[in-house]
Amino acid sequence: MKETIKLTLEPEELPKQWYNLLVDSPVEFPIYLDPSNNEPMSPQKLMALFPIECVKQELSNQRYIDIPEEIRTAYYRLGRPSPMYRAKRLEEVLKTPAKIYLKREDLSPPGSHKPNTAIAQAYYARQEGCTELVTETGAGQWGSALSYSCALMGITLQVYMVRISYQQKPYRKYLMQVYGANVDASPSNKTDFGKKLLEKDPNHPGSLGIAISEAVEHAIKNDGTKYTLGSVLNHVVLHQTVVGQEVLLQMKKYEIKPDIMIGCVGGGSNFAGFSFPSIGKKLRKEDGFEDLRIIAVEPTACPSINKGEYRYDLGDTAGYAPLAKMYTLGHDFVPPPIHAGGLRYHGAAPLVSLLAHEKVIESQAYPQEEIFASAQLLAKVEGLVAAPETAHALHAAIMEAKKCKETGEAKTIIYNHSGHGFFDLEGYKQVLGFD
Ligand SMILES: *Cc1c(COP(=O)(O)O)cnc(C)c1O
Repeated sequence: MKETIKLTLEPEELPKQWYNLLVDSPVEFPIYLDPSNNEPMSPQKLMALFPIECVKQELSNQRYIDIPEEIRTAYYRLGRPSPMYRAKRLEEVLKTPAKIYLKREDLSPPGSHKPNTAIAQAYYARQEGCTELVTETGAGQWGSALSYSCALMGITLQVYMVRISYQQKPYRKYLMQVYGANVDASPSNKTDFGKKLLEKDPNHPGSLGIAISEAVEHAIKNDGTKYTLGSVLNHVVLHQTVVGQEVLLQMKKYEIKPDIMIGCVGGGSNFAGFSFPSIGKKLRKEDGFEDLRIIAVEPTACPSINKGEYRYDLGDTAGYAPLAKMYTLGHDFVPPPIHAGGLRYHGAAPLVSLLAHEKVIESQAYPQEEIFASAQLLAKVEGLVAAPETAHALHAAIMEAKKCKETGEAKTIIYNHSGHGFFDLEGYKQVLGFD
């Protein structure tokens, strides 16, 4: 039997369209509300903040949306289509009859799936005549992906980086600066909201919610500047579906039928991008996808879907961003400082939340010690050092593979390998107890 461990696609197989799950949603999408009056958010108000094309995509009623040629070229440049690997040696050490595949989103220059939307947002902003983008970043994955993308598209970038990460994790900051971005610790003296917080506490550690508020304020006050978000919103999720569109092609080309698909969830973009095209088939009852199980994995320290409430909540601390219906731990929830910084968001994407609420997808949560142990196992047998965020999906895949060992079922499990962990080795050291 031919054992393929590296499942590649040809350059011309790079998807030409993104997939919009809104069209196949089992229930109507709960519209965004304006935080100032709780009325439906006007698209004009959103267009003042975000690139106009992104707002149009946000509530589009087209199932497939064309990817502009310049974005496809940039995707090609960053390594798309990305290969899918079979973790054969991992299967062997687990002694499982299950087959484990991973989709390689760690191969982009900044090291994660995030450029898939960063490139698109920077492209649309430039097309619309913006000269600057502004955003927030926690641990720095989004900031570095957008820095890379703004460098490619030739526009400037202002980043508000959560102060505690700015101080404790300088390497992603340096990477952003290498790409030419301007990075400030948040809270900062550049915004009224930041100044107010710094007056009370000059050493305020900051949070993602605060950094979002600062970035939004910056965008509102500066002409020619638009705001971008790295996760949660429908257009971000849409851009990420290039991943799941490729996965569908890879399944077809290599004759793989998935039983379980797994992704980690922070805001939900990598999970959604990876799984939505397959979930679309499940919802439309196509090609035997009806029985597909899809699992969203979170840290036990920030279990938005697993433990949160499904309701309208704010996306940021100051209340500038629209209200969205989602699973949330509350917009003022401050998660403990785990190493998977990208999974420390209080909510989950409205579309992912909707699918969880409708029980189309499942959710699981795992503690940091367990996910790092699995990450080390993967590194030892497959040579891949996963980001701590990614290790959540990996760990869930390993748990499902272990169940297969007990039941003797040869299930096919695919997880999204959302990023590498080369900037997270301090986390490996601390949790695994290296000298
Ligand atoms: C940011 C990040 C995540 C979490 O964000 P989502 O929007 O949930 O995808 C997961 N993995 C990696 C590697 C990240 O950088």
